[in-house]
Amino acid sequence: MSASVIDGAKIARSVRERVAREVAELPTPPGLATVLVGDDPASAIYVSSKRKQCVQAGIRDLHRHLPGDITQEELADVISELSADPAVSGILLQLPLPDHLDAGALISRIHPDKDVDGLTEVSAGRLATGRPGLRPCTPSGVIELLDAAEIPITGAEAVVVGRSPLVGKPLAQLLLQRDATVTACHSRTEELAAVCRRADILVAAAGVPRLIGADAVKPGATVIDVGIHRREGRLCGDVDFDTVREVAGTITPVPGGVGPMTIAMLMANTVTAARRQSTRAGSPSGPASSA
Ligand code: NAD
Repeated sequence: MSASVIDGAKIARSVRERVAREVAELPTPPGLATVLVGDDPASAIYVSSKRKQCVQAGIRDLHRHLPGDITQEELADVISELSADPAVSGILLQLPLPDHLDAGALISRIHPDKDVDGLTEVSAGRLATGRPGLRPCTPSGVIELLDAAEIPITGAEAVVVGRSPLVGKPLAQLLLQRDATVTACHSRTEELAAVCRRADILVAAAGVPRLIGADAVKPGATVIDVGIHRREGRLCGDVDFDTVREVAGTITPVPGGVGPMTIAMLMANTVTAARRQSTRAGSPSGPASSA
């Protein structure tokens, strides 16, 4: 029997609509500062669609486009200035940066309460210790998809293939927080298919086209494909969709699965950040303290 297909585009739309309602209820609209360095065409497209969707939801567009030859110090100053600016609720530094810039050092300049990509060490620490904070967008999009599709997470065997700081590792932590029994696989995992076959929820985030075949899927499992690749002019994921859909119970397509969720969760994070900052502004510790 063919798996039911999760409609990520539809779920992302409902998240964006929820964000727009939440924005309308805030006393002042949140502001998102996207920071684009140089003229990489793919990055320019990503940033422009983030800005467009944010504006549609009522989020203020505080974009900065900076020259590709900007120095580390100059860019660090821009990020520090945005971190201190009360009009800026969230900061997104579009990656990759030109080779001469140290992305890690620049990300660490983003105030953790404005870290809408969830990439600072403070955000990673908050996630690892289960404290409130901003979570990376793609992994939280996966959780949102599972919830929207009413896939039970508590007590489920979850296998995450990939352990990057951007996707696999934070996703494993989010699933653990939701009381799944989590296995994290990576490039050195032995008998990958056998480990994956244990999963009630299998997430592929390895960056290897069609790595996950039907032999790696337990009948009836939920399969979430984070991978995205262009092959022979078509997009595909880390999952061999056509064969896996005959075994899985539920599956996400590529495109139209996890992809649309990432920007939707960025918008949701921007609202969360704005709320947190307005609460802090009213507290004795003042706005944006990094406690
Ligand atoms: P990455 O290259 O940083 O990490 C890949 C991870 O997969 C590593 O931990 C590695 O150990 C593991 N891996 C690699 N080969 C493997 C193998 N053969 N078996 C098991 N594990 C293996 O990649 P990333 O940034 O985490 O992204 C993963 C994929 O998700 C990519 O295709 C990327 O384009 C996609 N992605 C999509 C979105 C989205 O919005 N849909 C967002 C981020 C990343």
